[in-house]
Amino acid sequence: RAKGSLGERIAFYEPEMDETARARRQLSNDLRHALARDELNLLYQPQYDLRTGELSGYEALLRWHHPKRGTVAPDYFIPLAEETGEILAIGEWVLRQACLEARTWPDDLKIAVNLSAVQLMQTELVEMVKGILIETGLSPTRLELEITETAIISDKLRALHLLRQIKALGVSIAMDDFGTGYSSLDTLHSFPFDKIKIDKSFLLKSQQSPEARAIIKAVLALGQSLNVPVLAEGVETEFQLGLLQEQGCDQAQGYYFGRPAQAPSISAEDEEARRAQP
Ligand code: C2E
Ligand code: MG
Ligand code: MG
Ligand code: MG
Repeated sequence: RAKGSLGERIAFYEPEMDETARARRQLSNDLRHALARDELNLLYQPQYDLRTGELSGYEALLRWHHPKRGTVAPDYFIPLAEETGEILAIGEWVLRQACLEARTWPDDLKIAVNLSAVQLMQTELVEMVKGILIETGLSPTRLELEITETAIISDKLRALHLLRQIKALGVSIAMDDFGTGYSSLDTLHSFPFDKIKIDKSFLLKSQQSPEARAIIKAVLALGQSLNVPVLAEGVETEFQLGLLQEQGCDQAQGYYFGRPAQAPSISAEDEEARRAQP
């Protein structure tokens, strides 16, 4: 038979692709019950102010504990939840949990919560955020919503309009994964972000790659000239931290400071200890 013919390739690949598609469909179905079955939980990763060395807050990161598959990564299941629309219920749950949690922390600590592109398409988003702030009693100034450029791109005017209304509540908005989207500079120009988060890919490559270092430097300069604080994510080593401090980066987050972990129980007694870090 003709090796590599179309027929053979189809015969070879089809079962495998079928399996992947079936697995996706199954997970997608399971995801509908994840909330009701209490399979979701939030981890919290610290964010530090590099000028003062103080903890400034935490980012909430979602985990799904599937009964058969174990922990499923958000990069895998969030797209599924976006396809089915389940992300709306999940996103609301995430925001409520995160605000309730932050309510138990000292007042100077902020909570950062990721928003999906699908949530940004909902006019109800503003009322939802407002409702949860009222319900949980968290001061709006302690909440920061993280959005990616990719989330804004599909319907930019609408997304920016919603973000303005959310900002008007007193909530701040961070641009996440900066440098990996399509039109970074244009998006920055059309919306007053409160923070720019340099994507972790640049930090992770920074030791070996002069180009990555050049990009980090350029983003920091951009933040300085626009007067927008910059946070570097994915800081794993002392070398990377040194680089950021040298260039006047405002904030950092990464395994060097702490991995995402169960809700921190931060009491007044811990205040001194946490201020001593890093
Ligand atoms: P993200 O918002 O950019 O979050 C940063 C990711 O980098 C997290 O992955 C975090 O665990 C990881 N990370 C932090 N520090 C380091 C480091 O030093 N080195 C390395 N290699 N990685 C580090 P995670 O938790 O797997 O989340 C992946 C993405 O899933 C997030 O990226 C975010 O886009 C999305 N996501 C997570 N939780 C939620 C959520 O509640 N709602 C929505 N819509 N998206 C979420
Ligand atoms: Mg984020
Ligand atoms: Mg990010
Ligand atoms: Mg990301």
